Parts: sequence; structure tokens; C-alpha cells
Amino acid sequence: MAPIPGSGLAKGLAVTLRTMTRKSVTAQYPDTQPELPPRSRGVIGLFEENCTVCMLCARECPDWCIYIDSHKETVPPAAPGGRERSRNVLDRFAIDFSLCMYCGICIEVCPFDALFWSPEFEYAETDIRDLTHERDKLREWMWTVPAPPALDAGAEEPKEVAAARKTADKLAAAQAAEPERTAGTEQAAGTQRAGEPGQPGTPRQPGTPGQEGRA
Ligand code: SF4
Ligand code: SF4
Repeated sequence: MAPIPGSGLAKGLAVTLRTMTRKSVTAQYPDTQPELPPRSRGVIGLFEENCTVCMLCARECPDWCIYIDSHKETVPPAAPGGRERSRNVLDRFAIDFSLCMYCGICIEVCPFDALFWSPEFEYAETDIRDLTHERDKLREWMWTVPAPPALDAGAEEPKEVAAARKTADKLAAAQAAEPERTAGTEQAAGTQRAGEPGQPGTPRQPGTPGQEGRA
């Protein structure tokens, strides 16, 4: 059946009339910040304390835009008679965001949870070389990474969290014991000084007995 003459125009006008009364959906960025999902892939943060310089991320990156330099360091044995160990020390960690395609492979493959997505995306530069973010910049991004989602009710606590809590408790206990130990030492020293004939409470001079061991 042949279309009625002018029906196309009527249809078009109907669409115009319908949409002209609706609220505009155009986001007025940068005057209005976009509402992005919390896990948006904005930029990559590096938590370098977790990085063991295994190089997996750099090897797997399809764009070869992760640059890592390191050197080896010898660690003395933990116990007398033990063997020396060698460990990698990070010298440089940089990501070139002018090449990165935000695939997330580096974050997925890191076995030590050293890389994270941050939703921050406003880091445009006028000089392309400034898009290579060195370790300090990557660390700053780390502080913009959102906290992990809460566990489901009744879920088992991840073993990493339990281990971190144990270490934190140990550190807190050691820190709490430190002032007591220091106070005890100072009290003992004060008692000793007060007992010295003719010099109650006089500060010791360098080289007096009892100070050699502190150097
Ligand atoms: S997100 Fe992809 S392209 Fe970007 S650094 Fe990681 S692995 Fe490379
Ligand atoms: S994969 Fe992880 S631990 Fe290995 S070098 Fe990359 S960031 Fe460091």
C-alpha cells in the first residue's frame, strides 16, 4: 500500500514534539561531573609495598607500556647459620597512559595485589610525555581507589585480611610495649644516677661508663 502523502513529515514532527518537552540528557561536563560507576577504569594505582618485581604485568601488557627497573639486594640470614637471600628492589615503575588501552590485564595478572583501578579520569595533559606516570604518581592514585565491597553476611573472611589483622595486632602490641620498656629503662637509669655520690640527676657526659654500649 502506498504511504499517505505527508505521513513521514507528520511522524517526524511527532518525534520532535515528544522530545522537545523532555529534560535534556546532555551531560555538561566539565561544569557537571559525570556519575560514574564506582569501579570505573579511570587510572591505575600502584601499591608498591606489595610489588615483588615479578615483571608479570609488564610481560602480559599487550601495549608494552609498563616500564620496570630493579636491582638485586642481598638480605642477611634471618637466623644465625642461615643462608643469605637475594631480593628484587624496585627502582622504577611507570605506566604510559598515552599507550594504555585500559584492558585491565596487568591488574588481573598481578599475583600480589599491587595494582588497582581508580575511577579518577581527569589527568589530561598538554604534553604527551606527561602521560607517563612514575611510581610516585601511581602511588597517589592508590589513595583514590575505592574500598572493596563488603563481604556477604556470613561469608568467610579472606585469609589475606586475617593475616593483615594479625600483623597489625602484633605491631600495635609492640608499639604499646615500647613506651613501657623505655619508661622502665629511664627509671632504672634515673635510679642509678641518683645513687652516684655528689651528682644526683647530673646528665652523663660522653664516654662515661654505661654509655659506650649505646653508640
Ligand atoms: S591496562 Fe592493559 S594496556 Fe594498560 S597497562 Fe595494564 S595491561 Fe597494559
Ligand atoms: S605483576 Fe604485580 S608484583 Fe609483579 S611486577 Fe607487576 S605490579 Fe609488581
